[in-house]
Amino acid sequence: MPDGKSILMYNSWALSKSAFVKGEQCVKYLYLDKYKKQEKTPFSKETLELFDKGHSFEDMVRDNGFPGGVNVKDVAGNFGFFNSYTQYLLQQPGRQVVYEATIIEDDVLIMCDILVKNDNGQVDIFEIKLNSSLNEAIQNDLSVQYLIAKKRFGDQLSTFNVILRSDDEGQAWTVSNLKNELEPNSIETDKKINLFKNVLADGEPEIAMGDHCNKPYTCMFIDYCQKRGIQN
Ligand code: SF4
Repeated sequence: MPDGKSILMYNSWALSKSAFVKGEQCVKYLYLDKYKKQEKTPFSKETLELFDKGHSFEDMVRDNGFPGGVNVKDVAGNFGFFNSYTQYLLQQPGRQVVYEATIIEDDVLIMCDILVKNDNGQVDIFEIKLNSSLNEAIQNDLSVQYLIAKKRFGDQLSTFNVILRSDDEGQAWTVSNLKNELEPNSIETDKKINLFKNVLADGEPEIAMGDHCNKPYTCMFIDYCQKRGIQN
């Protein structure tokens, strides 16, 4: 199989999954993260350590449960090429295991931790979370992933799974197919996607600070908003 680099095409997008998750927390967070990155407070040492743990867990799941996959990030280099390289890999005959499989539909970019295209063309997607249980933030994250994957694959999408850390002895992770649970969120998620695209096309929203600044995540623009003094 050629490495596919010669067919890479640059694709752009308006919204990413991580931008969607920020918009769920606060539309101003979404806006600032796109247009005022220089105002961000850097991640704390603790947060960076947590990211490292998450990446180690992902690697462990991939190596032990889904070995031999192609990592789109390692080959395609630039985000703009990830979608076309993923398409190239999925056009190859036989079973394909793809890490960081990237999909752009409706101007929304998502990256799937593991995507398996089976011999019969059916697709299984696996999102890996270091958490041992689902929470609202993870469900929002999974809802947009599922919707965009469904738009790309339609009936070819066989399962959409979350892999969570397991604290049980002898079992490092659990796998749950959430396709049926996530399907009812699709209409609402679609509406939010349109709302967030409109936010990004408008000026900076005026949002007062409040509990949402630390829930579910600590916003990286707290210093910026405090300096500007819009408080509840
Ligand atoms: S600090 Fe609070 S109000 Fe300001 S962008 Fe972040 S979440 Fe929104």
